[in-house]
Amino acid sequence: MGGWGSGGHNKTHRQVEKQRLHRVDSFAVYNNLRYDKYTCYKNKVDIRGGCTIIRYYPQSKEAEILENGVYYPLGLSRVLNIDGHSQRLYFLCPCCERRVRYLYRNKNGFYMCRKCAGLNYRSQQVSGMAEMRLKMERIVEQKLGGYGWYQDYDCIADVPAPAKPPYMRWSKYEALVVELKKLQSDYYTAFYQQIAGTSLGRRFLLDYGWDMEE
Ligand SMILES: [Zn+2]
Repeated sequence: MGGWGSGGHNKTHRQVEKQRLHRVDSFAVYNNLRYDKYTCYKNKVDIRGGCTIIRYYPQSKEAEILENGVYYPLGLSRVLNIDGHSQRLYFLCPCCERRVRYLYRNKNGFYMCRKCAGLNYRSQQVSGMAEMRLKMERIVEQKLGGYGWYQDYDCIADVPAPAKPPYMRWSKYEALVVELKKLQSDYYTAFYQQIAGTSLGRRFLLDYGWDMEE
């Protein structure tokens, strides 16, 4: 919390809550549909969350999202889990059609992925951090085969190490995990140092709900 002054934490906490309030989670929508045993008998199901309503039509398996008082089509994507039966539900970002778990409300009241909603912090980053991201991506994707990480995480620095690939030696795997964790920790250290040093950066952190306790 260094240098933020008293009351900073509460303010940050409120911002985190605020961002969460304006975010819809496809997994929550899926759970909602799954645990309502009458879903299949209904023409439509309204699921509230993230300051909006997602309207699901069980017959056609299509969905809409309420934005500024109007329902717009919302693309869904279902991904089978490894067991071959259960599945995960994702949104297709109305803006870029990327498959994502979370949609965020932008300034104009429309819901889209973090990147499209302008919550992307990349423009604030220095090239050293871009390089760290590349290194992390290389470990997660090429070395450990975790190609789908972006479906569940917005940033490579948040991704837990994928399981050991069957052909890889344990010693090699453990070394890669240590390297990844070190990069992730360094990345956040660099990120906070970079941003928290300026008043603009401080406002940025608050606006985008970054938890400054870390
Ligand atoms: Zn998008």
